Amino acid sequence: MQRWSSDVTHYLVELDHMPAPEDLDRLRGLGAQPVSLVPDSGLIVAAPDGTTAGALGVVRLRSLAPEEKISPLLRSPKLPSGAAAGWFVVEFHPDVNPYVAEAIAVQAGWLIRNNPDLAPGQVLVQGSADGLKTLAAWDEVDYIFPASRRLVRGEPVYVCAGADSQAGTLGQSIPLVGDGWDGPGLGSANLSYAFYNVTRQLPSGEVAAIIVRAFNEWAKYVQVNFTASNNSLGNETIGIRFATGAHGDPYPFGPAGGILAHTFYPAPVNPEPIAGDMHFNDANTWGIGTNIDLFSVALHETGHALGLGHSDLPTAVMYPYYQMATGLSAEDVGAVQKLYAARSTPPGSGTPPSTGTPSTPTTPTSPTTPTTPTTPTPTSGNGSGGNNGGSGKGSKDTTPPSLSVTSPASTSVTTSAANITVKGSANDASGVASVVWSTAAGASGTASGTSAWTAGPIPLYRGMNTITVKATDAAGNTSWRTVMVRRN
Ligand SMILES: [Zn+2]
Ligand SMILES: [Zn+2]
Repeated sequence: MQRWSSDVTHYLVELDHMPAPEDLDRLRGLGAQPVSLVPDSGLIVAAPDGTTAGALGVVRLRSLAPEEKISPLLRSPKLPSGAAAGWFVVEFHPDVNPYVAEAIAVQAGWLIRNNPDLAPGQVLVQGSADGLKTLAAWDEVDYIFPASRRLVRGEPVYVCAGADSQAGTLGQSIPLVGDGWDGPGLGSANLSYAFYNVTRQLPSGEVAAIIVRAFNEWAKYVQVNFTASNNSLGNETIGIRFATGAHGDPYPFGPAGGILAHTFYPAPVNPEPIAGDMHFNDANTWGIGTNIDLFSVALHETGHALGLGHSDLPTAVMYPYYQMATGLSAEDVGAVQKLYAARSTPPGSGTPPSTGTPSTPTTPTSPTTPTTPTTPTPTSGNGSGGNNGGSGKGSKDTTPPSLSVTSPASTSVTTSAANITVKGSANDASGVASVVWSTAAGASGTASGTSAWTAGPIPLYRGMNTITVKATDAAGNTSWRTVMVRRN
């Protein structure tokens, strides 16, 4: 096991129960820093070398073997559907500094591609699959899974922040979170759902209908029934809410273009009544069949509400980067059928034959706290300056600014200098509001000027550095360009 940082190792520790906040406090007191949760009873901690299970008072403690950190999909020579050949997403433990993450990948000989839409802690790398085990042998690496072609092409994508748990985050390696609402084994579940409110961006009846359609898509394949309720604080109830900013849980929403939604895993991973609840960030522009497609996001979030983590398969609804979907993939169906009994009626036979499944969506019920009506703002454009579509309403500006880099003259350059200044131009009909830069290693700043901008000096590490410059117009549309700089 190689290690970049000098004083701690990541260990998988196992308790005899679901880790609670008191357990995390106790481990911290013993010098073991919890970094992520491994349901049902484990967690990853960063602790000094030689720490033993006895010293921490846990049932078991061990390091992860490199092969455990590589997605099973990458053990087969067959390219997973939707995956880009030779490209991988490396997830580092959440406590690893982004500089260190990039340095490890570079040192291991991988080419790094910056993509501003990547999740924190994830790095997109290109290289030979033969090298995955060497990369996975680094202690700081948590998991490696296939990169989608969309990620590699730099198309605008939104990452799911992962479903939430009161005791911490969960890594990509966790496909099932707990046993589902039915407990261990393959049983059935009867869930309620209640709308605390709905977005005002779309007709309220349609919003409810779309979300119920997402529930029913899952209910086609497993014995889970969804029944409308008026009590969003009830147990075994998916409380649905559209909110902006801080909204009463530990995960405040950010501005448009960031997190789209989050969902709390079923009890007992989360306590009632928040277990199963689904929150949508109303700062984003919600659409129907167009980005950001409410059905696609609700379909993914419902997977979390049922107890699924993320899938490694790029074409699955549960891949961590949302994509437009009209239904579940075989991968998603296979995953949910590991938690609940399958429906005996064949998929595709229409509405599940359940008495509990409402045929008509209910309109949202009390208490309705209207969120501030948000002005729909078009979402991010892509690297080539294309139009992401926004919601297509009215005459709003949905065209991202044009952005070009004039210096360096090539998007891939080599230097021996310790820093670089990047220059270029940006133009937009409604005005360029800002030009900012960031590096894959985590440095960032604002360029001076907009129509003619200068970014830097930008610090360079030895090896490959990826610099992303992002321009935003007055309407919130963005464009970005990447420059790769190798420092000798
Ligand atoms: Zn997700
Ligand atoms: Zn929330």
